[in-house]
Amino acid sequence: MASVLKDLLGRPLRDLRISVTDRCNFRCTYCMPKEVFGKEFQFLPRAGLLTFEEITRLSRIFISQGVRKLRITGGEPLLRRDLPRLVAQLRAIDKGVDLTLTTNGSLLKEQAHDLKAAGLSRITVSLDSLDDAVFRAMNDVDFPVTRVLDGIEAARAAGLVPIKINTVVKRGVNDDHVVDLARHFRGTGFTVRFIEYMDVGSTNGWRLDDVVPAAEVIQRISAEMPLEPLDSQYRGEVAERWRYRDGGGEVGVIASVTQPFCQDCTRARLSADGALYTCLFATTGQDLRSLLRNGATDDDIVATLATIWGRRDDRYSEIRSEETAGAARVEMSRIGG
Ligand code: SAM
Ligand code: SF4
Ligand code: SF4
Repeated sequence: MASVLKDLLGRPLRDLRISVTDRCNFRCTYCMPKEVFGKEFQFLPRAGLLTFEEITRLSRIFISQGVRKLRITGGEPLLRRDLPRLVAQLRAIDKGVDLTLTTNGSLLKEQAHDLKAAGLSRITVSLDSLDDAVFRAMNDVDFPVTRVLDGIEAARAAGLVPIKINTVVKRGVNDDHVVDLARHFRGTGFTVRFIEYMDVGSTNGWRLDDVVPAAEVIQRISAEMPLEPLDSQYRGEVAERWRYRDGGGEVGVIASVTQPFCQDCTRARLSADGALYTCLFATTGQDLRSLLRNGATDDDIVATLATIWGRRDDRYSEIRSEETAGAARVEMSRIGG
C-alpha cells in the first residue's frame, strides 16, 4: 500500500493537477483578461515546459505517495501537441488511477476519440452559457458555443463519461443563464457544476459583488426544478451535490468563496514549468524541474515531496482577508483550475 503523506492539518495528498501549458486560445475575462494576456505577454518558453517523460516520472512518484487522481489542465491542455501520448504514458503507470482532463472544449471534437483510446477516464468541459452572445463575450475571442457543444457530444460518443460541465457564474454576466444550462443538461447524465467566481491570480479585477453565492444558484434552479442535497462521495470532493427530486440527475455547486472547503483539500498543482503549488492561491511554488534536470533520484524527489507536503498549512479560502487580497498570486492559467 502506498504511503500516505499528511500535511500539518492532517490532510492526505490525493489529487494532482497537472498543467501542460500556460497558453490558451480563449481569453475568458475572469481568467486571462485580454488587457493583460495580450500580444506582448510572455508565455513560458517551450524548453521550460516539462516534457511528457518528466511529467510521467513525477506522476509515478506522486502515485507512489498516495495520489489516486490525476487531472490534466492548463491553460488549454488540448493545445499541447500530441497530448494523447501523455495520457497513454500516465495510464500505463496505473490502470486504476482516475485520469481526467479539464478543457474549454474548443478542440475536443477532433481529439475526443484519441484521448479515450489513450486511456483517459472521463472529461470536464467548461461552458459558461448556452447563449451564443454571452458565451462569445465571456471567452472574449468570439468563439461560438455550438462548437463546444459539438465537442461535448464527441466526448460522449467516444465514451469519456461521466461528463462534467463547469460553469463559472459572474453576477450580471451569465447568472441569468444558470437555469437554462441546468435545464439543458437535466436528464442527460451530464452534471453541471456551478463555480463561484474566485479571486485567483491578480489580474481579473475580482470583486466580491461579482460573486453569485452557490446558495442562490441552487435556489434559482430549485424554484423551477426542485432539488434536494446529496451526501459527498469522498473526502476532498469540492462540489456540493444536489439531485433533482424527480430523478432528472444532479447538479453541483463549488462554493469556494462562500463555503470554503480547505479542511478537506487534498490537492497539489504542478505548473507547466514544473513548480509545485500546494494551494490555488499560493504566491510561490517549489521548483521540481531543477531536481529532475539535475539528476535527482526518485528517493530525492520523494523526500522533497514529503517535506513540501509535511509543512503545508494552506487554507486561503478560509482566511481570505484584506491582508491576502492584494498579494501577487500565481495566475490560474499557470497552474490550472
Ligand atoms: N482551459 C481549461 C478550461 O477552461 O476548462 C482548463 C483550465 S481553466 C483555468 C480550469 C477551470 O478554472 C475552468 O473550469 C475555469 O472556468 C475555471 N476558472 C478560471 N478562472 C476562474 C475564476 N476566476 N473563478 C472560478 N473559476 C475559474
Ligand atoms: Fe483559457 Fe480555461 Fe482560462 Fe478560459 S478558463 S482563459 S479557457 S485557461
Ligand atoms: Fe485548497 Fe487552497 Fe482552495 Fe483552500 S484555498 S481549498 S487550501 S486550494
